[in-house]
Amino acid sequence: MTRAITMARGDGIGPEIMDATLFILKEAGCPIEYEEVRMGETLHHEGHAAGIHPEVWDSIHRTGILLKSPMATPQGKGVKSLNVTLRKSLGLFANIRPVKSLSPIVAGRFPKLDILIVRENEEDLYAGIEHRQTAEVTQCLKLISRPGSDQLVLYAFELARANGRKHLTCMTKDNIMKITDGTFRAAFTDAAVKYPDLTTSHMIIDIGTAHVATRPESFDVIVLPNLYGDILSDVVAELSGSVGLAGSCNLGRTAAMYEAIHGSAPDIAGKGIANPSGLLAGAIMMLRDFGMSQAALIENAWLKTLEDGIHTGDVKLTLENSQRVGTRAFAEAVVARLGQKPSILKAADETVHGPVKIPDVPPTPAVDKKLVGVDVFLDWIGMPDDLGAALAAMTNPDLRIKLISNRGITVWPNGFKETFCTDHWRCRFIARDGATVTPQSIIKQLQICAEAGFDTIKTENLYYFDGEKGYSSAQGE
Ligand code: NAD
Repeated sequence: MTRAITMARGDGIGPEIMDATLFILKEAGCPIEYEEVRMGETLHHEGHAAGIHPEVWDSIHRTGILLKSPMATPQGKGVKSLNVTLRKSLGLFANIRPVKSLSPIVAGRFPKLDILIVRENEEDLYAGIEHRQTAEVTQCLKLISRPGSDQLVLYAFELARANGRKHLTCMTKDNIMKITDGTFRAAFTDAAVKYPDLTTSHMIIDIGTAHVATRPESFDVIVLPNLYGDILSDVVAELSGSVGLAGSCNLGRTAAMYEAIHGSAPDIAGKGIANPSGLLAGAIMMLRDFGMSQAALIENAWLKTLEDGIHTGDVKLTLENSQRVGTRAFAEAVVARLGQKPSILKAADETVHGPVKIPDVPPTPAVDKKLVGVDVFLDWIGMPDDLGAALAAMTNPDLRIKLISNRGITVWPNGFKETFCTDHWRCRFIARDGATVTPQSIIKQLQICAEAGFDTIKTENLYYFDGEKGYSSAQGE
């Protein structure tokens, strides 16, 4: 059956590598029809801040599949990354990046590297909610939800099982971000119970990255929140030999987007020397999800091409008589080897699997939520003790000031004179003895602050959930 897909040639080297990829898919007999759409840098320049025409969405909604070349994100305010917009608008919650060493053909320090990265794709700091709040301080909100984490980790376990993987490592920084990263880790720990055939571990992201960089052979599947996953997946791709080799799938419940992991490489655009392998690898993932046998046919021809010493300039082969070629010639070499198999590298899996089922997300259980106070953030210049004295003198019957922190560290009461303070103060108000905190108590507190001439820039309510504190303590509290 012919599949219709939406296709975008992208920016920089995008058109060159897309032409090469489509040529290989056509010659391999893939029954695919393309709806070509325009998106990316040129549209940004034409004044479309999102880099995409509204009609393009219709095509993607119709086909549910987007095969795209990299898009450049112009620098500058007001311009949003099109890649992030696509992932989030289409609910593409998982970014899947398999990276494997092609030793002994492609030079690389880690011949046994074979890692599957499953990265959360919609949440975390990539929510892109940023504010400048005072003359001195800016903020970016890190949002991690339990259903978002559940969906990603459950899928990671399913994918691991379907691919015959054995061990999943979750990486977070939950020693510092106990609530946000802690939520992701808790989802992973809870999901692990449902997959007793797979072993699991957790590492703090900093030491985890160090271990991946120095002994990647000891990792199998790595599951991460968005930002850590973005960084680590490029580290892993580099370790395998070239960023030009790896492909990725951005998967959602009703749509999927396949691409190379690298960017638009403006430094080599138009020269005809770019490696099409990354985009081809993305296209092969797509063919596998379609259940098309051409996935293995093309992968084997591609492996055989490298084995025969034919490569683009970004890849260093170990062979003595290798032949460096351009984008088109590389694609032609792959086409010439359709039907052949590698003899040194491991041949592609020829089983036709189809997509891995995305598990249902467990419903969020009802919780008992209790308001216990408020953090009021002030734009103010002065000494902590003066601010503390002014706030302590306020007479809200429900709330009293408990502490003030600056950039997270407690500066009142009992702060250190050495602590550097900006103009951004977090003032924590909690219930007075015997009082009940209500939304009205908070409105009253804001009124009192305004009447006293303070510039309130934001508030965060403090809650307990099922008797457990739902906010972090200040450092030094
Ligand atoms: P890049 O991946 O484009 O380039 C990094 C280096 O790798 C360059 O030296 C480049 O020549 C080389 N390279 C990349 N792909 C190659 C290939 N297929 N063959 C040979 N060499 C290759 O990263 P960058 O320079 O940081 O980013 C350029 C632009 O791409 C930016 O605008 C960025 O926002 C965008 N970008 C897009 C995506 C995407 O669409 N998914 C991903 C990453 C970056």
